Amino acid sequence: MFENLSVTESFKNSIISALKMSRLSHALILEGTDEATRISVAKEIAEALVCTGESKPCKSCKACHKAMKDSHPDIHILSKAKDSTMIKVDSVRELKAQALVFPNEGVKSVFIISEAQYMNPQAQNALLKIFEEPSPHVCFILTCGSKSSLLDTVISRATAYTLGEESDGSEKSEDSKAYVMAAELIASLVKESEFNFLKRTAAFAKDKKLFREITENMISLTRDALILQSGGKELINGEREEILLLKNRFTQRKALELTECLRGFLTDIDSSANLNLTVTRFASVLYGIKIS
Ligand SMILES: [Zn+2]
Repeated sequence: MFENLSVTESFKNSIISALKMSRLSHALILEGTDEATRISVAKEIAEALVCTGESKPCKSCKACHKAMKDSHPDIHILSKAKDSTMIKVDSVRELKAQALVFPNEGVKSVFIISEAQYMNPQAQNALLKIFEEPSPHVCFILTCGSKSSLLDTVISRATAYTLGEESDGSEKSEDSKAYVMAAELIASLVKESEFNFLKRTAAFAKDKKLFREITENMISLTRDALILQSGGKELINGEREEILLLKNRFTQRKALELTECLRGFLTDIDSSANLNLTVTRFASVLYGIKIS
């Protein structure tokens, strides 16, 4: 299981043994690594849950084949629509309605919410009841960069797994460091010269993990600016000064372009063989959007 996917051994072992003992939680949060890995992992767990073979996923039963072709009727994937900035409560309600129905093929219904950080608080709240009173034939799998982008009430009702590096006690302070730096970087991008902006980015040229976390936090902050620009109110980060700066000084088109670029960099960072070069490109591409 999870061949060719870069996930930690401890994650692999805990999922495999939970599956063997049929003890997998009805609500999983998969965080860490990159978006592509997260969704692949989620799909493979879904496959194992619907598999009718012996060692799950057997990769040879009908159910596995359907799952691998993304055509299994009991595996549902919800993600943010391309033209939207969030996953709205209506989509979650639809999902909940489907969860009440018995699985088509009688084994398990799996609902994957890809990049769950895009659920607005209302959408996340809509999940709580079903997380609290799970039906035995249903499993929810939420993926996200960091579970800290989800409501505490959601996290506390699910079992979270980190696919990437092992998390330890320092994880939290590392997170907030990345968050502070991301906010500073947004403010710098809006207000400062290209030289100063470049200087700030140099600080994380040696730390891939930090670079990635800063980028994820910048995406989250930019997302909030976009929400304000489109008249929305449900912010993940609250009305922070940096968000207002971005909202007021960047056009919606630029803010959108910024988000797209940052998301692209998440992939670039993971595959980067020369982090210095990636950081330099990061600074110049981002600044390029500002002055475009
Ligand atoms: Zn199978």
